Amino acid sequence: TIGMVAMDAEGNLSGACTTSGMAFKLHGRVGDSPIIGAGLYVDNEIGAATSTGVGEEVIRIVGSHLVVELMRQGYSPENACKEAVTRIVKKNPARAKGLQVGFLAVNKKGQHGAYCLQKGFNYAVLSNDSNNVLIDGKSYF
Ligand code: ASP
Repeated sequence: TIGMVAMDAEGNLSGACTTSGMAFKLHGRVGDSPIIGAGLYVDNEIGAATSTGVGEEVIRIVGSHLVVELMRQGYSPENACKEAVTRIVKKNPARAKGLQVGFLAVNKKGQHGAYCLQKGFNYAVLSNDSNNVLIDGKSYF
């Protein structure tokens, strides 16, 4: 999945995601990406979230909606993402071994964060402040 969450100059939030689905998927399978609340969710009062990884697991917890609701309760974007992943793991710890699933989120203050079950998950940040692309906090331009 390529998922993006954004805040414009007036502080309005938006998001988008796209996917080719999972390898060897059954014909007709629908993953999380096209399902609002699962692969993507935006509430302009609270925050925006998107997911990547095994869509079936994300759909089961309505993951992106969960991340936004956790931010509504006061979780930071990163902690909200982590809690959503933890919920997936708790539902089926045996299945979670080697599972790829992660979330990315931004809140209404422009704070952002992500969490992925597997190591090596990066995300890029573009902001007018730095006029730069940051990947895991490192500048690349
Ligand atoms: N989330 C996608 C799906 O389950 C897979 C991906 O691109 O990460 O269809």
